[in-house]
Amino acid sequence: MRFHGRGGHGIKTASRIVGTAAFLAGYEVQDSPIYGAERRGAPVTAFTRIASSAILERGVITQPDLIICGDETLLESPASGVLNGVEQAAALFINTRNLEAIRAQGKLHVRMVALDITQRTSDRIGKASALSVGLGAAAARLSGLISCEQLGEGVRTELEELGLDAPMIEKNLLLAQEVYAELETVTVEPRKFSATAVIHKMGYDHVLLGTPSILAPGNAEARQTGAWRVERPEIDYDSCTRCGLCFVHCPDGAIALDEQGYPVIDYDHCKGCLICLEQCPRHSIRSKKEVRSW
Ligand code: SF4
Ligand code: SF4
Repeated sequence: MRFHGRGGHGIKTASRIVGTAAFLAGYEVQDSPIYGAERRGAPVTAFTRIASSAILERGVITQPDLIICGDETLLESPASGVLNGVEQAAALFINTRNLEAIRAQGKLHVRMVALDITQRTSDRIGKASALSVGLGAAAARLSGLISCEQLGEGVRTELEELGLDAPMIEKNLLLAQEVYAELETVTVEPRKFSATAVIHKMGYDHVLLGTPSILAPGNAEARQTGAWRVERPEIDYDSCTRCGLCFVHCPDGAIALDEQGYPVIDYDHCKGCLICLEQCPRHSIRSKKEVRSW
């Protein structure tokens, strides 16, 4: 399985949850992530291999049986690698509410399965960006290898290791059960892993994939980090006092002040970190789940 998402989504933890659950189910397991840019919002990939005998392969998975995509905007970026090997995959899972729009594009020729994990995560645990459990549950269910109970044990083991408290773990367990129940297993043809040690090399990410690269004077503007946004800050101008704190604290310079001193958000570059929302003394900034049209 190969997982794709953005830094801060819990992509590595999703791959570990499935790995641990599969291990508890009696399989040989291997899971590993690559981070590339090591930056919140930048693309992250993680891998889980599951087998009934020793796994001698190492490194990236170029031909996954399942692809789990935590952020549909990554589908628009060839450099993200989400679609590498998609032709041989049994299914591509997408965290989206826009599956019909994606299908209507006619670009993807693979069985697609979708669920709005972001909304369910927000509803269950109150944090839309913590996608690890929802994505891990989707992968576990689609694989057909892991029972709901084994998934629950994998969730509990990994979240305890991360130091989450008991009530939060219970909420996540309910989320895992909910996602598991809403999906169906897909048929994954068993593959033979190599009987000898093989290392699949990683290569380097494209230079523009995860960094706001400054390749020429003044070109930072061309890097549209707005595509990273999961939640969208919106300003209530009726209560805004024009204190300018949001303008000062935005780490990406995505807030300008207009001629009257009101803040104006540049949504092409706002990455949705919501620091502005935290800083606003009047609570004049609200967040909404981002909805993109394909
Ligand atoms: S969410 Fe707010 S602070 Fe963060 S990038 Fe967007 S405008 Fe700036
Ligand atoms: S921090 Fe809040 S009150 Fe101050 S300018 Fe920004 S939105 Fe307005």
